[in-house]
Amino acid sequence: MQYFIPKRVYYEPQSLDYDLGRELIDRFNKMGIEINSTASHNRVTGIPGKTAAQAYRESKKTLVIGVRRDSPFQTCKPSAHYQLPLVTGCSGMCEYCYLSTNMGKKPYIRIYVNIDEILQTAQQLIQARSPEITVFEGSAVSDPIIVERYSKSLEKTIEFFSKEELGRFRFVTKFTDIDSLLALNHNNHSTIRFSINCQSIIKKYEHGTPTLAERLEAAGKILQAGYPLGFLIAPIIFFPGWEEEYESMVKDLAQSINSHRGNVDEKITLELISHRYTKRAKFNIMDIFPESELPMDEDKRKFKYGQFGYGKYVYPSDIMDLFKEKFQVYIEKYLPESETKYFV
Ligand code: SF4
Repeated sequence: MQYFIPKRVYYEPQSLDYDLGRELIDRFNKMGIEINSTASHNRVTGIPGKTAAQAYRESKKTLVIGVRRDSPFQTCKPSAHYQLPLVTGCSGMCEYCYLSTNMGKKPYIRIYVNIDEILQTAQQLIQARSPEITVFEGSAVSDPIIVERYSKSLEKTIEFFSKEELGRFRFVTKFTDIDSLLALNHNNHSTIRFSINCQSIIKKYEHGTPTLAERLEAAGKILQAGYPLGFLIAPIIFFPGWEEEYESMVKDLAQSINSHRGNVDEKITLELISHRYTKRAKFNIMDIFPESELPMDEDKRKFKYGQFGYGKYVYPSDIMDLFKEKFQVYIEKYLPESETKYFV
């Protein structure tokens, strides 16, 4: 099982006002990890690294323990109403990580220790939208599983939402350290999704993350625990042999689901996202992974204006049509009872 052990820890002095802050410092002290204080969890200085690539790698081994201030939750359209800020960052080093563009040059991992206050804010937002259901996304700026064994924030959050009639929680992960969530009373109010890809793409681009087989095994346990379960197949990449590899991935996914399903008849949801990138993301990727072989040739892409005003490079229509046609065949063949939410 792959899980994160920080190389260095920073903490905001105010985090010691919270039980979790004190527990974490005590725990990391006992583990012999270097600990320093930092005046602000937003501006941490002292993470080593002379080049962008070194700073990135060192940041991925750095944990910051902080207190989330009163700033309002960000909206999270279209998948949810709000982001739920529990953790930021991730120890994985996927070349196409969606966090790389907005987390700056030093994407360290951060745990917020004032979970009860964060959940109180969530409760106010749920009440404000009553009688509508309000959905919160726990992975908009992180993969929260990587620090769950330290923070227990997902555990608290899932239990909190289980009692909220009008609140729902969801997050997505590539990691497998999920055993602590299995026995929780989730009341079907929390959806757990796994981000998957075919194994050759994982091996080539998703450095420091579990294999496809390990993710499917973890997802199987989540299914057996009765959680609503989904899969994000992303990013779908066009490469020689993509058809065979993606078909085999969907087949493995179906086999794993069928072998874990038991009496659970809940529909599995699928979200399919083809690879896309912005100019800025490409610039960052080449800075951090100068040897990257990620296909980002503008001549082979179509430029599309995004909803937030910046443009991105997507696959041209003929490739998108081919992706959609083939995936439809694989899904109908192997996963006929799943629900595809979207394919972009
Ligand atoms: Fe980014 Fe997800 Fe990979 Fe972590 S696992 S580096 S959040 S894409």
